[in-house]
Amino acid sequence: MRRTPHDRQTLPIAETFVSVQGEGKLTGVASWFCRVSGCNLRCVWCDTPYASWSPESETRAIADLAGEALDSGVRHAVLTGGEPMLFEGIEPLCSRLRGAGLHVTIETAGTIDRDLTCDLMSVSPKLANSTPVDDPRDPTGAWARRHEQRRLHLPTIRDVLRRGEDHQLKFVVASPMDLAEIEKLVDSLDAEPDNVLLMPEGVTVPDPPSVRWVVDACLERGWRYCPRLHIALFGNTRGT
Ligand code: SF4
Repeated sequence: MRRTPHDRQTLPIAETFVSVQGEGKLTGVASWFCRVSGCNLRCVWCDTPYASWSPESETRAIADLAGEALDSGVRHAVLTGGEPMLFEGIEPLCSRLRGAGLHVTIETAGTIDRDLTCDLMSVSPKLANSTPVDDPRDPTGAWARRHEQRRLHLPTIRDVLRRGEDHQLKFVVASPMDLAEIEKLVDSLDAEPDNVLLMPEGVTVPDPPSVRWVVDACLERGWRYCPRLHIALFGNTRGT
């Protein structure tokens, strides 16, 4: 990945927009989204490759971003990526937004901790199903190895979860084989069932029979089934 240096005053931004939150506890809430470009992982099914595999960005000042959020008229901000915790500038942006009274959600894979506090820390630990094995975008396998080394570090996930006044653990699931890995993680993290969300992988609305196993897994364990409202409303479209 070609890197542009960023200090505390700027962030590399792929897009900003206002939409309804599509995933998690705050589904349906009108929110200002700020998508940072750049990621330290390479999930095979990444639905924002323009912020990971092929990062696109423009450099924007923190003050400019905060001003846009406040002018948007909504009361919730979602800092997402890519991996927003990769960049130091996320700390002053989060702080400014909260200082102005906005509710801030951070969406992260939980591989990097930062000195900040947000309202909802949404951690999506990456399961084995995310590793880009034999991916043509990774001809030498270097990213697959890096991804596998970086994707899960329990002490860091614990630290990141504590940065939120509230938190959720959102798992992208692809097959029933994922459940054993999730159960192990949930046990290790001592997570409340109510904070565990299972979201079927994919960028289309799934046929109900194909996700019945996800629903059943949630019902059996007290976890939450997590649909993607933005996909149902807008399809797999940027800026939504
Ligand atoms: S962590 Fe998120 S942004 Fe990064 S590659 Fe995975 S899905 Fe994409």
